[in-house]
Amino acid sequence: MLYTDTTILTMNPRREIITEGALLVRGDRIEAVGKAAELREAHPAEPVTGLGGGITLPGLIDTHVHTAQCMLRGVSEATPPPDFRTWLFGRIFSLQGAYTHSDGLASASLCVLEMLKSGTTGFVECLLAENYGLDGIAQMCLDSGIRAALGNLVMDVSPEDRDEMGWPVEMWQTRQSGIDLTVEGHRRWTDGDHLQIWFGCRSMEPVNNPTLFEEVSSLAAEHDIGITIHLSELPHDNEYARSLGYRSHMAMAHELGLLGPRTVLAHCTVADDADIELLAATGTTVSHCPANNSSSGWGPTRVRDMLAAGVNVTLGCDSTPSNANMDLLRDLRVAAHVARMHDHTRLALSPEEILEMATLNGARALGLGDDLGSLEPGKLADFIVIDTDAPHLQPIWSPAATVVFAAQGSDVDTVVIGGREIVRGGEVLTMDSEAIVADIRDRKPRVEARSGVTGIDPPWPLI
Ligand SMILES: [Zn+2]
Repeated sequence: MLYTDTTILTMNPRREIITEGALLVRGDRIEAVGKAAELREAHPAEPVTGLGGGITLPGLIDTHVHTAQCMLRGVSEATPPPDFRTWLFGRIFSLQGAYTHSDGLASASLCVLEMLKSGTTGFVECLLAENYGLDGIAQMCLDSGIRAALGNLVMDVSPEDRDEMGWPVEMWQTRQSGIDLTVEGHRRWTDGDHLQIWFGCRSMEPVNNPTLFEEVSSLAAEHDIGITIHLSELPHDNEYARSLGYRSHMAMAHELGLLGPRTVLAHCTVADDADIELLAATGTTVSHCPANNSSSGWGPTRVRDMLAAGVNVTLGCDSTPSNANMDLLRDLRVAAHVARMHDHTRLALSPEEILEMATLNGARALGLGDDLGSLEPGKLADFIVIDTDAPHLQPIWSPAATVVFAAQGSDVDTVVIGGREIVRGGEVLTMDSEAIVADIRDRKPRVEARSGVTGIDPPWPLI
């Protein structure tokens, strides 16, 4: 298939932007990228699909997603809980603890649907608990066409600590069952470029036995399994690590074997200079979640310093209780806003750097840097097309700046993953959008009632 009538942000090594461009796709790969007139002449018999003059770029990769929290969209804002612990245990965990496998699947389906519609073609799920049902979610991802690395929950918290903290028992599992499920899930589901099962570690915190991380690190290396974990998230993380004699939370992770090119760390908002050096030296990926960080009132991640040090910094939407949408296209702009406000300069983060984070660096995070992240001959055909006919997208001075600062998820017209058309005319072809939304609307009050969580009322009267 020859895709024509488009401006292509190739993200190739020279970062060429091809006006009046075309992409030749054969099977699941890109065979050629160039000027439409030349490719049409060279391939006169090839069927043609016009892209309406829009901007084509590599599919976006979201490296920090909580699919199970999509059903909890907005739950933090109705009546904000007083602190992080009350938010996590009293509200989020209590609601998620009431999930059945079918609720976990419904929430993940809503999440994947929203991601596909807004131009995300690959993602890292960070914490899939046993009660969400790994198999159902893995199958749904494959059927939808999205590329996924599913972090399956591993933890080692004693029943005594669990009860003392008010950690819902449904959100708790033994160390061995999490490890077995992950290794077994990896064996059954990991298929190379579409689906991977990773270790999704609960945070390194006082109640989580640190020897767990040594075991996970060694199993990950043995079986070539990716690892994802929230790390250096808030000041209390460094305080905990120092109480055990480590220099920092990051240094502790390094000594326990967690850092490396197959690891994605979420947040790293309290990383210092020495931590950034460790990240660069080990080839570890950082998932920067600017909308979550700013919405939660956290400090900003030092993205500019990390990029300057050679760290593979990527972008994540995180979760809908802390960032209302899983629209990574919208969050590209938030990444710029947060960095520029922090550094007091428009030069803090350019649209080009932000696009690199969301495409090339994201591909590297998935372990697919040779196959994804740019539109070049031989790479997998994962691309999205932004319809630029809307008033808020004209005129265009720089296609990269238009994508980062003016576009949003609802401007995505077409999504192709591995040569397969997944979205056309803004509609997801592989999922039943209406049924998924209706199902969530119906489930929400039942999950709320089952959880026993109260006090999520908005401050203004609902009459
Ligand atoms: Zn998170």
